[in-house]
Amino acid sequence: MLTGLALGCVVGWMASRRDALDTQRLQEVVQALTERDFDRRARLSSPGQIGDLGRSLDALAERLSTGDKKKRSRKDRLRTILDAMAEAVMVTDSRGRITLTNEVLSDLVGFDAEGKTAIEAIRHPDFHLAIEEAQQGFSGLLEFEIDGVDGRARRVLRASVSPLRYRQGVVTVFHDVTAERVADQVRRDFVANASHELRTPLTAIRGFAETLQEGAMNDPEAAKRFLEVILRHARRLQALVDDLADLSRFEGEELQLELEPVVAGALLDEVVRGLESQSKAKGLKVVCSGLDHAPPVMAEGRALEQVLVNLVDNAIKYTPEGGEVRVNIAAEEGDVVIEVANSGPGIPSKHLPRVFERFYRVDAGRSRELGGTGLGLSIVKHLVAKIGGRITVDSAGGWTRFQLRVPRADSPRSDTRVSRS
Ligand code: ADP
Repeated sequence: MLTGLALGCVVGWMASRRDALDTQRLQEVVQALTERDFDRRARLSSPGQIGDLGRSLDALAERLSTGDKKKRSRKDRLRTILDAMAEAVMVTDSRGRITLTNEVLSDLVGFDAEGKTAIEAIRHPDFHLAIEEAQQGFSGLLEFEIDGVDGRARRVLRASVSPLRYRQGVVTVFHDVTAERVADQVRRDFVANASHELRTPLTAIRGFAETLQEGAMNDPEAAKRFLEVILRHARRLQALVDDLADLSRFEGEELQLELEPVVAGALLDEVVRGLESQSKAKGLKVVCSGLDHAPPVMAEGRALEQVLVNLVDNAIKYTPEGGEVRVNIAAEEGDVVIEVANSGPGIPSKHLPRVFERFYRVDAGRSRELGGTGLGLSIVKHLVAKIGGRITVDSAGGWTRFQLRVPRADSPRSDTRVSRS
């Protein structure tokens, strides 16, 4: 009897101990589920209600785990697609917290913005307003500027802000339109500069023609003088229009030059001879060296000629009377180096980086007086790029020196016969 009682106690104690352990495992699974850890299982083998509860809980965890994996793989797929996009993307939930972004957005704001609010990621009042409106169900398209990160320049963004269905949140797609806006500004400046340049000779031509018409043509002396002025301005107009046409042709991506071996020494000699009357008229000493020894270069004859004419013509134009122009051509490994240098006051260093810009002149009055359009070096820059060369300028000790490097025809670098700038 006593033995039976003792056995009953032991069994009872063991059963209650197993129940306590099972209950603890159940608690651990529930805790894991609340923390979105769907991989934990109770794995109870005991019969009875606690065991059944454990098995039901495991089945629930299994279902949640499968659903979560599917959801995660959908999100991963979505992120891969978003990362392949050129635009920055931000998805926020109904409380304005960012739930999804892509790499372009992280790059733009300088950090991973997931978990932050839209407002923390992009600090601009117009954007905040657009987000608020999208939360009310209204789409918006806006453009604004933000600071650049990592020392980069300010960015101009065009944002398309749209509400998600059932007001679950907002999706914003950002296009970085900085380059477009810079190009717009450059275009506007160019049109303003070009019309200003064209207006000056046109106004002069019109003014002198009207003066002639109003009676000056009856005074032969005055008529001759006025006609000369008209002709001078007409030539200037022609030079401008020609340079503008050249520039638009050479700037374009479409123009491809057929490169072939060109004997640059002979070409340089021809160019210097062709401009001899100008250099003689100013009493300049022109010293040429290396013309007979340089190996052929890979270029397009007419393009290279136009570059050399511009450089030698400028050297003659900007050398004061009685000064000196030095032209040298020499072979280096891979390149032929052509130098055109001239004496004179030189170019102050702050102007040097800008002389290849369109319409940039160190002394605008002097350039115009000498028949310059301010476009010559800009044309040179584009042509040099198209023939695969490089051009630099320096100025020291009263000398200005343009150095042009063109690939040698016998260099492996000049294998490609068609240039794409
Ligand atoms: P421009 O028609 O005015 O000569 P360019 O584009 O050829 O236009 O040159 C731009 C400016 O660079 C010139 O206005 C001049 O101030 C300066 N420059 C160019 N070449 C020389 C040179 N050889 N010596 C001194 N200054 C020069």
